[in-house]
Order: sequence, then C-alpha cells, then structure tokens
Amino acid sequence: MSGLHWRRALVIGLGVSGVDACRLLRAKGVEVRAADRASREELAFRLAELPPEVEVHLGEVGPEVLADVDGVVVSPGVPPSAPLVQEAQRRGLEVIPEVELAFRFAGSTPIIGVTGSNGKSTVTELLGLVLKTAGFKVAVGANLGPAASGMVLRGGWEVMVWELSSFQLELTQSLRPKVAVFLNLSPDHLDRHGSMEAYRQAKAKIFAFQTPDDHAVINQDDPQVASLATRAQRHGYSLRCQDAEACFDGTHLMLQGRVLMARQALPLPGDHNVANALAAALACRVFGLDRDAIVAGLRAARSLPHRHELVAEINGVRYVDDSKGTNVGAVVAGLSGYPPRRVHLILGGLSKGQDFRELIPAVRERVLRAYLIGQAADELEKALTGVVPVEKCGTLEEAVRIAHLCALPGDVVLLSPACASFDQFHDYAHRGHEFARLVHALAGEENA
Ligand code: ADP
Repeated sequence: MSGLHWRRALVIGLGVSGVDACRLLRAKGVEVRAADRASREELAFRLAELPPEVEVHLGEVGPEVLADVDGVVVSPGVPPSAPLVQEAQRRGLEVIPEVELAFRFAGSTPIIGVTGSNGKSTVTELLGLVLKTAGFKVAVGANLGPAASGMVLRGGWEVMVWELSSFQLELTQSLRPKVAVFLNLSPDHLDRHGSMEAYRQAKAKIFAFQTPDDHAVINQDDPQVASLATRAQRHGYSLRCQDAEACFDGTHLMLQGRVLMARQALPLPGDHNVANALAAALACRVFGLDRDAIVAGLRAARSLPHRHELVAEINGVRYVDDSKGTNVGAVVAGLSGYPPRRVHLILGGLSKGQDFRELIPAVRERVLRAYLIGQAADELEKALTGVVPVEKCGTLEEAVRIAHLCALPGDVVLLSPACASFDQFHDYAHRGHEFARLVHALAGEENA
C-alpha cells in the first residue's frame, strides 16, 4: 500500500514524531488537525515547528475533533486504549501510527527495521554506520533520533534504518521492511501491553507484511523470537555456533561459514554486543553488502551514550553510566561484561511491571552491593534481600555518595536501574547526566 486517500487527518500527540507527521501530511496536501493533552506553554517549542495552517487543539479534547476527519495518526506515546483512539476506531476511521504514515510515502526506498526489547538503538546505529562506511546515503532514526516522517519528508536516501518499538508497531497496517531484525524479547512495557504475549505480538508485527522477497533476521538463541512465524526468508544468528548463518565461536564472529572478524576487533563490551554485531552483520549481508564493507563498519563502532559509558575512574574505581538499562533483561545482559562480585549496582526508579527476581542469578554472580532509589525501591528490596547487601538510598545523589564510600580499587559503580526514570528525572538521558555530574563532583572533592 502506498500513499493515502485522506482529505483531512487528525494527528494525536505533538512530540517530535507528531510534528513531523503534520509536516509530511501538509506536504502531501492533506488538511491537518492536531491534538495534544499538554498546554501551549509546555509545547511552545513544538508548536513553533508546525506549519501555520495546522489546526491545533490542546488540553482535554473531546470527540468533536474527529468531525470531518478521514484518518488518524497516533504518536508512539499515545496508547491504543486512549479514548480518542477508541472513538476513532468505533467510527470506522483508519488509525495508523506515525511510522506507518512515513512508510506509505517512502516510495521505493528500502527500509531496514530493527525491533526487540534491548539493543535496538545499538543495532540501528551499527547498521547506519556500516551502510554509511560502505558509501550508502542512509538515514537512521524512527524510535531513536529523527522521526520516520521527517526522514521521508527530506528524501534523497538510498536506504533508511528504522528502530521500531512495540508502541510504534502495534497499529501498523502495511509497514514492510525489506530486512526486519528481531533481537530479543524480555519483559518490558507490560504496564502498557498488559501481558507478555500481547507485547510479543505487537513486536511480531515487524514481520507481518513482509513477502518472500524480504528478509527476516532472527536471534536463534531466544526461543520467544525463534518460534515466530515469518513469510520472509529467514536468517538466524546465535552466540553459539550451531547451524546459524551468523555466529560466535568464542574468539571470532563468523558469517555464512567463514570468519568475519576477531572478537577483539569489535570495540564494544560484553557478549550482548557480540550478538548485536552479528545481527547487524547478517542484516547488511542479506541487504547485499560484501564482507569487507561490513568489517570496516563494525571496526568503527562506538558505545552509545548512557549504555555502559565510562564516566570516570576515581581511586581505581570505575563509574559507569548505563542509565538506558531500563529493564531487567538489559541489566542482566550488561552485568555479564563485568568481573565477578565487583559491581556496586545502583537500581530503581519507576517500575514497569517486571519481575525483579529475574535479576537474582546475575546479581549474585557479579554484584557486591545494591543501592536502591526511586519508587521501585521497596519492590527491589523484597526481590534482592538475602541475595546481596541492599542499601535503600532514596535519591541518586545519596546512592552515589554511599557507593563511593563502599567501593574499593578494582570495583565498578554501575548505574543500570532496570526501571524507567520518570519518577525522579525527565528521562533516562537526564538521569545519566545527573549521575555523571555527581561522579565528577566526587572526583573534584578527591582532587581538592
Ligand atoms: P533499546 O534501544 O532497545 O532500548 P539500547 O541499544 O539503547 O536498546 O540498549 C539499552 C540497554 O540494553 C542498555 O543497557 C544495553 O547495554 C542493553 N543491551 C544492548 N544490547 C542488548 C542485547 N542484545 N541484549 C540485552 N541487552 C542489551
């Protein structure tokens, strides 16, 4: 399906993707109405970027905004259960997410889509890096960075790499990546999706509209992913070398039966990043890149900010920011990259309905002491008491202060919270910056 036959659209949510959806719709001659719960002051920045003809409704809006509308575009932050979305569906209007809108106007530009509970941004960036190094005009974004509609509006790309969250995929109706990558599945966002199966089905939409001409890149080590049906050609990757097309033999990354590169040549820490590199390598290979181009790109990889980023080393103690470790799966995978029982782990924030007991084996193996912050502190305390010593600290500032007093040379103080940040911070980046600020202040005191 391409294009859309609407005279007037309603865009719900005026974040980055909502604003770009409005701009794309206007560029295609569609009349646009936009609604957002927030106030004019809160949205001042965004409103300035809207085309002037867009009719804006702010605050509590009722179903009257649906009058004369042919279709609705929803931003990823707006759940399908929102009353306006439900009412639009009840009226039989077409309701699509912003990425679907972008796809309908993407023309013949191929899309590589990436989904999974953890590693999406890392793999999306890796794919962008490899494709760029190979000389492609590539746009990278969607869930991270620029919105898909903005990329399409700008145009001129040979390929687009889209990071796709479950929120974005849930309502898609035709979005068909040429190559779809599914990394892993672990509990996350259960507060919105209700159950693990609903979450899995939302993410599985990445394969739903593919054809046998397309490719599905699948993590063979994750049974919940490996068991998903696809119509596209299937390509498996694995951290073990069985019959996977891309695999790891303990020292080398292997691709289609031959050595691709040595583990040491990949400048990213942890086994989970080997898996991420295998996924990216395989996706690029099936997209048509040769092995040398893939290796050149992977060798240039760098950790993204707030993903196991070294902030400072003070008196032999490393302080590491993994503020983006916002669910149990990410924390467990990340801990595997640290030495046994040397980690002072700062955890907590806003709980997302996960079972924190799943942290126990990795915590027992790697963590010396846990420092709990934010709303989830009680729940975490219940899960971890008896596993490691637990300190309830309340704030990040207090956690950093106490961890600094307890840590000895060779230890690591790691912020990897397993929770969202919104109870105490604007977002995960704000939490990471605060951590860095507190650590740098400690370094200053030590040097004073
Ligand atoms: P996402 O975009 O899916 O949130 P990121 O690349 O931003 O993923 O990484 C988020 C967190 O997940 C970080 O803590 C990171 O270390 C961890 N992570 C990255 N790749 C994986 C993986 N393949 N498996 C498990 N955890 C991972």
